[in-house]
Amino acid sequence: MSDTIFDKILAGQIPAQIVYEDQDILAFKDISPQAKIHVLVIPKKKARNLSELQSWRADEVGTFFQKVAAVADKLGLANSGYRTVLNTGREGGQSVDYVHAHILGGESLSGHFA
Ligand code: 5GP
Repeated sequence: MSDTIFDKILAGQIPAQIVYEDQDILAFKDISPQAKIHVLVIPKKKARNLSELQSWRADEVGTFFQKVAAVADKLGLANSGYRTVLNTGREGGQSVDYVHAHILGGESLSGHFA
């Protein structure tokens, strides 16, 4: 798999505003925020997209999603609420081929998917 911009952030080759890191995930601010709070969460174990997570063990997938929720909690969004988005593939609007969950919040978000 060729290196994406997120591989380079994970390797420390490109700077990012990291908000949380542990042995499983890295969470950093989106460079082009679409809400007051816009953070991306990537697993350290690489997959290209959500579809590829089907080949992971269930506990690995579970850990990733539990940690996405934990990052949202750490950002102070648990009570107010937030939106999570995973874009998959070209028609899904995925622009970086490294699976990532968007966490958007800090304000009232209009519509369901806008
Ligand atoms: P996608 O469209 O693949 O779901 O989301 C990719 C996200 O990565 C976009 O929201 C975009 O703003 C963000 N992004 C692209 N390049 C960089 C970068 O170099 N640094 C950071 N922090 N975010 C990036």
